[in-house]
Amino acid sequence: MIQGIGAAAGVAIGKAFVLPAWEWDVPDRRMEKVDLAKEFERLYEGIRTSKTEIEVMKNEIKETVGAEESGIFDAHLAILEDPVFMSEIRGIIERQYKAAEVAVKEAIDHFVTMFDLLDDEYMKERALDIKDVGNRLLKHLLGTPDITLPADTQPYILVAKELSPSQLVHLNPDNVLGMVTMAGGKTSHSAIMARALGIPLVSGLEHKLTEPVQTGDLLVIDGDEGQVYLNPGPEIIKRYTEVAEKQRRRKEQLQLLAAVEAVTKDGVRLRLAGNISSVKDLELAVKYGAEGVGLFRTEFLYMDRTTFPGEDEQFEVYRQVAEKAGAYSVVIRTLDIGGDKQLEYFELPEEDNPVLGYRAIRISLDSKELFQTQLTAILRASAYGNVKILYPMISSLEEIRAANRILEDAKQDLRARGLSFDPGVQVGVMIEVPAAAAIADLLAQEADFFSIGTNDLVQYVLAVDRMNEKIAHMYHPYHPAVLRMLKQTVQAAKEAGIPVSVCGEMAGDERAVPLWLHLGVSDLSMSPQSLLRVKHRILNSYAGESREAGAACYRLPTSNQIEAELDRFGYEMEQERLGK
Ligand code: PEP
Ligand code: MG
Repeated sequence: MIQGIGAAAGVAIGKAFVLPAWEWDVPDRRMEKVDLAKEFERLYEGIRTSKTEIEVMKNEIKETVGAEESGIFDAHLAILEDPVFMSEIRGIIERQYKAAEVAVKEAIDHFVTMFDLLDDEYMKERALDIKDVGNRLLKHLLGTPDITLPADTQPYILVAKELSPSQLVHLNPDNVLGMVTMAGGKTSHSAIMARALGIPLVSGLEHKLTEPVQTGDLLVIDGDEGQVYLNPGPEIIKRYTEVAEKQRRRKEQLQLLAAVEAVTKDGVRLRLAGNISSVKDLELAVKYGAEGVGLFRTEFLYMDRTTFPGEDEQFEVYRQVAEKAGAYSVVIRTLDIGGDKQLEYFELPEEDNPVLGYRAIRISLDSKELFQTQLTAILRASAYGNVKILYPMISSLEEIRAANRILEDAKQDLRARGLSFDPGVQVGVMIEVPAAAAIADLLAQEADFFSIGTNDLVQYVLAVDRMNEKIAHMYHPYHPAVLRMLKQTVQAAKEAGIPVSVCGEMAGDERAVPLWLHLGVSDLSMSPQSLLRVKHRILNSYAGESREAGAACYRLPTSNQIEAELDRFGYEMEQERLGK
C-alpha cells in the first residue's frame, strides 16, 4: 500500500492510464530587433486566444459542475492579466530579443521555481496554476496540440504527474473511475473539481512509489484514506470491491429519493427546487427530483456569443423551461452581469471595485431597451407555464419601482401586439445586498416574494470578495452577521405574508437544514447536484430537534462555533440513523 493524500472521496478499482508528462521543447530562439512589434503581436494574440478558451471552460464548468468551481478559472484569467508576470515576459522579449514563446517559457520557469521553493502549500498550488496557464499560452504560440486522453471506451484510473483543471474539463466523468497524481494536495484546483465531479482522487505520491505505474497496471485507490494499491492481491481487490459496491448502492439509493417528497420524520415539508443556467441543466434538476426552478441564471444565454440575444431567441429558451417544468414554478432572474461576469461584446467600464460597481439591475435600469427586451421575452413565456420574475442586486425601493415601470411598458407593448402573457405574473427581489436585508420590511411591501442570494450576501456583509482566493478563508456563510441578516429577512417576509426562499450555495449545504427549520424557510433552491444530498438529510431529520440545533446556532458568537455545532448535530443524527 502506498500512502498519499486523500483529495477526493470514494473508492475506485481499475486499469491505470498513465498520462505522459509533457515538457515543451522550446528552442532558445532570438530575433532581429526589427521583429519586436511582431513578437508582441504574437504574444497578445496568444493571450487573447487563451483568455477566450479559459472563459469557455469556465462557463462549461459553471454549467456542469458549479459556480464555485468555475471560479478556479478566474485565477487563471488573473495570471494572464498579472502585471508582474506580464512585465517579466515583455522584459525578456524587449531586452533579450527572445521570441515570445521563449520569453513565456522562461517566465513560467522563473515563477514556478520561485513558488516551489517556498515552504507553503498554497503557493505551490499557485505554481501549478501558472504552469497550466503558461502551457496554454505556449500551445497557442507553438501550435502544438493538446495532450489527448484515451478514447472514451474503457473506464480507467488516470495517473499523472499533475493534473490541471483545464485537463479535467475535458474528462468524461463516466469514463474516469478515479485519479492519482504525484503532485498536488487537498486544496489544489484539480482536487476541488474532482470532489465536485465525484471522482475519487489520491494525490501527493511524489517519491512514494518504489516502481512507476504503467498503463494497464491494476490499481485500487481509496480517496477517503489516501491509499493506493498497485497490482494488489485478490484479498485487497475483494475488500475494495465490496466497499465500491456499497458506495454504488448508496448512490442508487439516493437516486431513489428523487421521486420522494422532502418531509422531515415529524412531517414538516420543504420544497427543493433547482438552480439552472440552461435547458440542459433543467434536465439534470428534473432527474434529481427538483420541484421546479428557484433560480434561472439567464446571463449564460448572453455569454459565448457576439451580440445580445433577441426577444424571440430568449422567449424560445424561457418557454421551453416553463413548459418542461410543468406545474412547478420557474423563477427567471433578469440579467446579472458585471462583477465577475463579463460579456465580450458589451464593454463595461474599467472599475476599481467592479463588484460594488456597474452590475446586474444597475445595468438593466441604465439600458432600458436591453432590459425591456428580456422582460418581454419572459412575459411571453409566462403564457406557457408558471413563470415568475426575479430582479438581482436590489438595494432600494426606487430600483424595484423603476424596474416595474419598464415591466409595465413591456406589458403594454405585448398588449399592443396582441401577444398573450400572464397579467398577474409575480415579481420578486433577490436579497443579496445588506441594504436589502436591512429594509426587507419595506421591500416586502412591494415585492411578491424574496429570494435570498447568500453567495453575494455573505460577500457584501463580510466585505470578503467571493472570488478572491487570498481571503477565501474569511468567506464564512455561517458568520453570526449573516445569520442575523437571514433572520431579519425571513421575519420581514413572514410579517408581510410573502414567500421567501434561499437560492445561494448555503441552500445546497445539508448542514444548514437546522437553520432553515428554525427560521421557518421551506423553499430552497440549489445546484442540481446537491438536491438528493439535502433531501436525504431532511428525510432523516426531526424538525423539532433540528429547530433546537438551529436556535442554538443563533446563541453562538463565532462562525467556527456555529459550524462546529452544525457538524456535531449532523454527526449525531447520522450515528442515530446508522443505529450506532
Ligand atoms: C447569490 O448571490 O447567492 C446568487 C444565487 O446569485 P449568483 O451566485 O448568481 O450571484
Ligand atoms: Mg448573486
